[in-house]
Amino acid sequence: MSKRSHSSDPAAEALERLRAGNARFIGGKAHFPRTSRTVLAALAREQQPQVTILGCSDSRVPPELLFDAGFGELFVVRVAGNVFSSEVAGTLQYAGMHLRTPLFVVLGHEGCGAVQAALAAKFDGARAHSRIEVLLQSILPGLAEVDPALSAQKRLRAGIEANVRWSLRQILESPEGRARRVEGRMKLVGAVADLSTGVVRFLDAPLDNRRTGKSSGSRS
Ligand SMILES: [Zn+2]
Repeated sequence: MSKRSHSSDPAAEALERLRAGNARFIGGKAHFPRTSRTVLAALAREQQPQVTILGCSDSRVPPELLFDAGFGELFVVRVAGNVFSSEVAGTLQYAGMHLRTPLFVVLGHEGCGAVQAALAAKFDGARAHSRIEVLLQSILPGLAEVDPALSAQKRLRAGIEANVRWSLRQILESPEGRARRVEGRMKLVGAVADLSTGVVRFLDAPLDNRRTGKSSGSRS
């Protein structure tokens, strides 16, 4: 898709693009990998996604495209800053209990504006609009160990990874997360996508179903 144009009614133009894109899709003329009607019909009866992803809303990190995954493969929650909230918890619980996806991924990305805004609030006293402020409050606890002496660029990188680990920890420490780990039925992984290359870097110390193993990322 090309850059956003400066038309007088950008919303209408965007909607038209969506309509046109959907028309291409259902006409079997999508620019992206095609999905046959047989596959759609099978998925209409039942979905069995293999992976649940909690990712950021950022337009540059669509999980299905990043992972070249087709319909029905990924169960995705996207929210700015890939933050954990009660609604996210409910969605993840559904994925765990009903869809039984074996793998959960928290997917952050370099250059995340939500983390950047949280860092600005923490270190520079920047203020955001009320609803955004609430969002930032969900990120801030995870940034406790980010070194203020780092350069702005390094601070953002550290903050992005810390924020992924913070969401991981909250999932892990939720009652459902604990229960499923004890059952040995959940693997939880953090990852960070690079915007300029599209490369997804999976974080080390994956939080799998070990009951006693303390990973380096789970200081409490
Ligand atoms: Zn982001």
